[in-house]
Amino acid sequence: MNSRKTFALIDLSAYRQNLVYLSGKASPAKLMVVVKADAYGHGAVELSKVAQESGVDRLAVAFLEEGIKIRQSGISLPILVLNYVEKKEIPTAKEFSLTLSLSSFAQLENIIGLNKQLPDFQLVVDTGMRRLGLEWEESIELYNSAVRKGINITGAYTHFATADEKGSGFVLEQREAFGRFLHGLGQRRNRHFETHISNSAGTIYFDNSDFSYVRAGIATYGLQPSKETDENLKPVLSWVSCVSFVKRIRTGYSVSYGRTFVADRDMLVATIPVGYADGYNRLLSNRGYVIISGKRCKVLGRVCMDQFVVDISHIEKPVSIGDEVVIVGTQEGESISAEEIADLCGTINYEVVCSISSRVPRVYK
Ligand code: PLP
Repeated sequence: MNSRKTFALIDLSAYRQNLVYLSGKASPAKLMVVVKADAYGHGAVELSKVAQESGVDRLAVAFLEEGIKIRQSGISLPILVLNYVEKKEIPTAKEFSLTLSLSSFAQLENIIGLNKQLPDFQLVVDTGMRRLGLEWEESIELYNSAVRKGINITGAYTHFATADEKGSGFVLEQREAFGRFLHGLGQRRNRHFETHISNSAGTIYFDNSDFSYVRAGIATYGLQPSKETDENLKPVLSWVSCVSFVKRIRTGYSVSYGRTFVADRDMLVATIPVGYADGYNRLLSNRGYVIISGKRCKVLGRVCMDQFVVDISHIEKPVSIGDEVVIVGTQEGESISAEEIADLCGTINYEVVCSISSRVPRVYK
């Protein structure tokens, strides 16, 4: 049931096109797609299936539960868990054939003794994020200790802090540190040892031919990984709703909680049955836009939990209850992007799509 005609429409053919484009950019490195946080709000199970059918080689998730959900849906691709997993759940990773990330001696101490219950691991090397992993010299020691203790380390990776900033010298420093780590391992790593460093921005802007994989998230969803616009990326998600109410208001009338908008003329306004509980950010109060009848309509007053009000005074043809409202996407040649909403909220496109709550049904086409 969708009693308020509100959907996030997920365009699977746009997703496939982005995968083809990014595979080409990454080549000869292979594509690992990042489907954490329910594929950035797009639906991890559905998109992982498409990724598998499209010949993607690997998936990455943040947490164990995310990997299990994808595995239980029948996906056989290797899945790398990027983030923390507590000791008692480590055998579960083995049970579901998930690869975990190893980032410290403390974690290593914690897992030895689990023996046959241990899954494969990949080493996180810190080259500049200071979030997970040891410096490259200590990472070599960690690798050696882990191997001595019989742990199967199938690869190593690091993560860029500034790949989205054009011409960033820090990217080169990070590559160099990771190169030193790999050089330090020398013959101790076999030829199947997997290496990866680039996120989406790194996939598009840098040469990845020295590495086995790239780990691309945001760009697979057709969203820009930096301030540069790459026209090859096709947005996968659009967000639509409908008009739930239309009203004339007079000069001096206020709209919504706190009376932060007061009409300076007679106006025609429409209510949209979407609010901050759906992920429509309250920072869009008096700032955001939607599209109705191909025209941009400004948000008036505060966004409420389940509704907000927009100005439709400038729309010539009659607007009726049930008419389509585009929150993110394109209607009659007019567009609103996740990037535009992010700018208005002082955040990034990642947060805009990840915030669309489970109350908004995802519809795949
Ligand atoms: N790799 C790691 C370790 C990450 O944390 C992320 C996302 O935050 C990614 C790859 C994917 O990054 P992006 O979405 O910018 O491609």
